[in-house]
Amino acid sequence: MSITQGAAPQKPVSAAPPTVKKKKKSPVVAVVHPEGCTGCEVCIEFCPVDCLYKVPGPENPEEHGYISVNGIVIVDEDVCIGCKLCAKYCPWETIDMVKRVEEEGVAA
Ligand code: SF4
Ligand code: SF4
Repeated sequence: MSITQGAAPQKPVSAAPPTVKKKKKSPVVAVVHPEGCTGCEVCIEFCPVDCLYKVPGPENPEEHGYISVNGIVIVDEDVCIGCKLCAKYCPWETIDMVKRVEEEGVAA
């Protein structure tokens, strides 16, 4: 008796394109209060996803009530994972963790 070898089973072909899983964002994000930021960059050292950036502050920081004349730090909220390390280690306690505002379902 001979054993016939059939064709290897094939994967069913789907007409739908592969779905890209949307990465779930953290429920909270870091917010730097620019007036209190000294631009010391300590938070930048601790951020595990490099989403903190030093940028120039306003031209006349004193007039705006800003402490720093050498720039301030901003957060890329899209990348922030809400780990709270920056808020924990900011020597000037000028970072708060706030609830993320959802892009979807927000009333215009
Ligand atoms: S650690 Fe605090 S004061 Fe220093 S740059 Fe970051 S937010 Fe500003
Ligand atoms: S909460 Fe974490 S991920 Fe977000 S900015 Fe601070 S250190 Fe970076």
